[in-house]
Amino acid sequence: MDYSIFTRGHYLLIFISRDLRVGMAKLKCADYGFECEFVVEGQIEQVIEEFGKHTEDVHGIDYSKEALMQFILRKK
Ligand SMILES: [Zn+2]
Repeated sequence: MDYSIFTRGHYLLIFISRDLRVGMAKLKCADYGFECEFVVEGQIEQVIEEFGKHTEDVHGIDYSKEALMQFILRKK
């Protein structure tokens, strides 16, 4: 598994609980190295939007939407 897009010494567990063919995904922040129970689940675009906003606002880590999308797609 390639975590190379996460360059700040943390690794992020991303759980894809839905089939990507129906455009659903789930991102979980709990094992990020923070005490954080943030989970976002829904359509992929919404998940990327909300998760990216969360990591930036709460953890100060700005992942591009493209990076998050690529990461999800790699899980396919
Ligand atoms: Zn978090």
